[in-house]
Amino acid sequence: MNGDIMTNKTVFLNNELYQYMLSVSLREPQVLQDLREKTAQDYNLRMQIGSEQGQFMQMLLKLMRAKRTIELGVFTGYSTLATALALPKDGYILACDTNAETTEVARKFWRQAGVEHKIDVRIGPALDTLKEIMAGSEENTYDFAFIDADKSAYDDYYEACLQLIKPGGLIAIDNVFQSGGVIEPENTKQAVKVIKNLNEKILRDQRVDLSIVPIRDGLTLARKK
Ligand code: SAM
Ligand code: CA
Repeated sequence: MNGDIMTNKTVFLNNELYQYMLSVSLREPQVLQDLREKTAQDYNLRMQIGSEQGQFMQMLLKLMRAKRTIELGVFTGYSTLATALALPKDGYILACDTNAETTEVARKFWRQAGVEHKIDVRIGPALDTLKEIMAGSEENTYDFAFIDADKSAYDDYYEACLQLIKPGGLIAIDNVFQSGGVIEPENTKQAVKVIKNLNEKILRDQRVDLSIVPIRDGLTLARKK
């Protein structure tokens, strides 16, 4: 065993091991590769979920036989497209973002992939959209929600998604490690504070089953009981 990468916990993914993992597991379709390249050229690639994370979420969606999902934070559309590709033909994604420009980039790739019909984009603050659909009695009708929009509203997003998904449904919450900010006592960033509070709240939250997957910047999975 290589002493540099073994710990008593999760094996540390140095660059070589990460590349190896991708080389024996990643099956990123061409359209997702193209979208990643376009995002790298024109925008900030750091905002986008990782390709292995997209593939992991697709696995969850297929295992759950998910049909109706919520996407908070579309950006140039990578996670939404990965989700749409994993849903059946009559799948439905409610996709929320405030940025009309990046969402237009997203649409182009969704069309190219032949999944645009599954995606219902709502431009505007995600919380307003969620409140609207809750008023429209869509509570307990979704299978899955992915939370990846503005971090300061994460607690509100979690509470709203918990109402909107069915019992047995799953909420996936991205960036719960905040690049390690959650273990820096001196870190006073608002996003870090909100996420630390939410992480601690979900640990005690008996409404859900819980697991944190240490993929990329940390992904919390909360299953509604
Ligand atoms: N999931 C995306 C992907 O895989 O490429 C990345 C999402 S990016 C990290 C966060 C997005 O949240 C940005 O596109 C931003 O415009 C959006 N956003 C910020 N504030 C928002 C709000 N109040 N409501 C909805 N979306 C918001
Ligand atoms: Ca993210």
